[in-house]
Amino acid sequence: MGLSKLNGLYREVILDYANHPHNKGSLATTTNTMTLHNPTCGDTINLQVDVKDNKINNIAYTGDGCTISQASASMMTDAVKGKTVDEALAMAKTFSDLAIGKKHPTTDLEQLGDAQILTNIMEFPARIKCATLSWWALQRALLKDSEEEEKNE
Ligand code: ZN
Repeated sequence: MGLSKLNGLYREVILDYANHPHNKGSLATTTNTMTLHNPTCGDTINLQVDVKDNKINNIAYTGDGCTISQASASMMTDAVKGKTVDEALAMAKTFSDLAIGKKHPTTDLEQLGDAQILTNIMEFPARIKCATLSWWALQRALLKDSEEEEKNE
């Protein structure tokens, strides 16, 4: 596909987030981390989260990949910083539900902030994984502790 198929305004915002990434780097303190790959495109996201008092106190990522995946990580980290873990998980669920074609009310989309722009990518099936990778990483990172305890891994 080309990003050229996207509306010009969306394209500019996406390129800006990708070219001037927000929250890219490493955190000194982390409570939850997750690395995910999207083999179809070659995208990698290493997500680092610092949860404090049940809130996303800080969040950062490293990794590389296509413009969509990097813009998505940049937008996602901005969107969830300062939110409670439950709020962040609800946002991740909205985004990943949209990726599998489920609808959400506008109020849910508005919660995503600028990241809602990338929900337009759902029109391009080949790029859905690129856009959703960072949200999946967030979900897995935040749910990791309890799941690991249950599975006793
Ligand atoms: Zn990609």
